[in-house]
Amino acid sequence: MTKKIMRSAIDAGFRWSAAHRILREVVERERHWSGGMFSYGYAVNMFANAAKYRDFWERRSFSHSSVHLTPLGTYFAFQGNSGRVDWTGAYVREDGTIGRFQGRHNYPLYCVGCGRADLRVADEFMCTAEFSLPATLLIKIPLNPGGGHQPTERRAEAAWREKARLLEQEHAAKAPPIVEPPPPPAPAPRPQPVHERPVKPRGPVEALLISVLSSLWGTFKFLLLIALIGLAAGRK
Ligand SMILES: [Zn+2]
Repeated sequence: MTKKIMRSAIDAGFRWSAAHRILREVVERERHWSGGMFSYGYAVNMFANAAKYRDFWERRSFSHSSVHLTPLGTYFAFQGNSGRVDWTGAYVREDGTIGRFQGRHNYPLYCVGCGRADLRVADEFMCTAEFSLPATLLIKIPLNPGGGHQPTERRAEAAWREKARLLEQEHAAKAPPIVEPPPPPAPAPRPQPVHERPVKPRGPVEALLISVLSSLWGTFKFLLLIALIGLAAGRK
């Protein structure tokens, strides 16, 4: 009953302690964040920018063990050489929220595969388990606006849209009562007057035929009655 929630620093609802904040200031003052091209800070920024888009996570989902997963469902990946300096990376939460974290001060980082991912030996930024982001989460992540020009990328996007459409259908099938009632009354009255119009000219003709036939029937019955009376009179 006293099971502790293993909330990671990157999970929603994480509370920063005073100790965290002090450490954060220390880490953010460190030199390795500054510098130009080819510096560590530049590489980290490139990584964080790429992590805003779906292809980044899609690629990692298919490359083995580069994605970690917190017990609360947040997927995260470390920047390739950040293990030697600190633990820096990017994450995607269950609702599709994307963010970045910089440095060891973002502790703890629990992983259901490898344990405390931020306490692992330097250079081992990969997970010991294999995680891939589910399709339902991947479609929440925006596409890279710079991509999509290659035929393969267009095909991939078409496949994703189809998958998203099927998922939406599944959701719609689960909750139909609100959607179902309005359609039947709307289309029903509209076609009826349209069909009645071509029928209308036939209406009087039919009515005339029926009235003629019914009057003929009445005449026939009258003649039959006369004939029967005649027959009856003839027998006497
Ligand atoms: Zn892991």
